[in-house]
Amino acid sequence: MSEPTTSAGDFIADVVRADIESGTYGGRVQTRFPPEPNGYLHIGHAKALIADFGIAEQFDGICNLRFDDTNPDAEDVEYVDSILADIAWLGFRPHKVVYASDYFEQLYEWAESMIVRGLAYVDDQDAETISAQRGGYGKPGIESPYRDRSVEENLDLFRRMRAGEYADGEKVLRAKVDMQSDNMQMRDPVMYRIRRAHHHRTGDTWVIYPTYDWTHGQSDAIEGVTHSMCTLEFVGHRPLYDWFLLHLDLPHDKPQQLEFARLELNNTVTSKRKLRTLVTDHVVDGWDDPRMPTLQGLRRRGYPASAIRAFCAYIGVNKTNSRHSLEELESFVRTELNRVAQRRMAVLRPLKLVLDNWPTEDGRTLGEARAAGDEAVGITQWFEIANNPENPADGARQVPFTGQLWIEQDDFAATPPPKFFRLSPGREVRLRGAYLVTATDVVFDASGAVTEVHATYDPASRGGNSPDGRKVKSTMHWVSAPHAMAAEVRTYDRLFSADVPGEATGDPFDDLNRDSVQVYAAQVEPALAPGAGGVEPGQVVQFERIGYFAADGVEPMLFHRTVGLKDEWAALQKRVG
Ligand code: ATP
Ligand code: MG
Repeated sequence: MSEPTTSAGDFIADVVRADIESGTYGGRVQTRFPPEPNGYLHIGHAKALIADFGIAEQFDGICNLRFDDTNPDAEDVEYVDSILADIAWLGFRPHKVVYASDYFEQLYEWAESMIVRGLAYVDDQDAETISAQRGGYGKPGIESPYRDRSVEENLDLFRRMRAGEYADGEKVLRAKVDMQSDNMQMRDPVMYRIRRAHHHRTGDTWVIYPTYDWTHGQSDAIEGVTHSMCTLEFVGHRPLYDWFLLHLDLPHDKPQQLEFARLELNNTVTSKRKLRTLVTDHVVDGWDDPRMPTLQGLRRRGYPASAIRAFCAYIGVNKTNSRHSLEELESFVRTELNRVAQRRMAVLRPLKLVLDNWPTEDGRTLGEARAAGDEAVGITQWFEIANNPENPADGARQVPFTGQLWIEQDDFAATPPPKFFRLSPGREVRLRGAYLVTATDVVFDASGAVTEVHATYDPASRGGNSPDGRKVKSTMHWVSAPHAMAAEVRTYDRLFSADVPGEATGDPFDDLNRDSVQVYAAQVEPALAPGAGGVEPGQVVQFERIGYFAADGVEPMLFHRTVGLKDEWAALQKRVG
């Protein structure tokens, strides 16, 4: 991959470099990306992916994809499959794909070894009691009455837990650490719970499931992970991570946990749970709705994987709060699309423009033919228009032009307000790459709305050039009406109206923007037709003067607006700077 995936000087790279220099792990570097398959990956995961895969790549190490699948209630193969697809799309190739559930037997054996060492016990109390007894900061913990069971009794009970002799929630296995620790994670955390639920990989083999804390570090150790990166909320879990590993006979050197800040983006949420609520409440059309910050949503919206990687490299891997604006991310998307997207013309809100002096096949003008009651459109001329001025290698296409055109409603004003330089009666404008035209007449409907504009074109201005150097203040896009194709175009606004959803009330859903989609019945040039020579599903094109749009690949044609043309981030920077 050509783009840098980690930013220079990030602190994790410094730790890894120091470990290599001092010979820890024999110079080996191994990381893992450990998603729980309980939802789709989002933009925050891209940051973690860059950290995990980027560090491995930077130091010639390896990175496994490990599904952290210890919670059968919430997990599903649908999520496993989507995560695999998303990681491949972002351009990362895991050294191996592994599952925490692959280690259930080993984890069980290690749990027995903890019991034998007097470091774990079976507790008969229910979850609420255990939680209440944990205490809090400055509030002492209460030891369970079952804490001092003998090794033999604990072993027997734990084996019977596995054998399915108890009901769900009837018993748990807990680590015997320190009920007075200042770190709540160390107050005898739960290692196993009884849960009869079908697991997407192990089926009904197990009725006891290990907790995150009892699984994570041990999985790292089994695989030979050296640097185990996670987000800052796990800082408090690190002593427990180390404590478990300290008491086990490990096949490799002890891995170390390193924490970095979660990526938060304004006007959206990056939590699988909240994203799931958006899906189940039908606020959006699914995990891949183009408004979603999921990788599938962003992809469908037209965000290039390379732009997401470049954004993550730019924000870096940091230890403090990492909140960014959507405009920043969009700026990377726009930069990439400006380079690669072909230009096309599309009219979102079509208004008919008739060129009265346009020639027809039989020698009359269009005006004359129409006055005689003929539905003529006039002859067709073809104009060669560059596909992408930023990239001459993209060549040019032939665009048909006739005497009946679609222009944007916004590009015409019957009574122009001050500083309106687009088309209005008596005003001359340029139709991009075609001709200069002057509006002559306006047709209104009963409600006073403009239904049709009449104009004349200057035959000497072919190609859109001003024949005598006369000034024309605007250039507008257009589509030949008889050649145009209908397409649905959707533009999107922020999913949440507040920068930090829920900041005011505590509930992000209070800040939902219920009006985040706008649908247009557009008319687009024929080169946008799907299939050979046209656009491929997922391809992003620039609609001239409007923005970047991703083809959805469905019939009839559907386009999603990726981003507008204006770099709002640059504008924001200027205002601040
Ligand atoms: P969620 O709360 O959205 O379910 P999670 O933290 O439980 O997220 P996992 O899928 O279990 O997510 O995590 C996979 C990896 O991605 C973890 O290392 C996690 O720390 C990291 N990660 C998750 N969300 C973010 C984020 N917003 N920014 C950076 N890293 C993240
Ligand atoms: Mg999680």
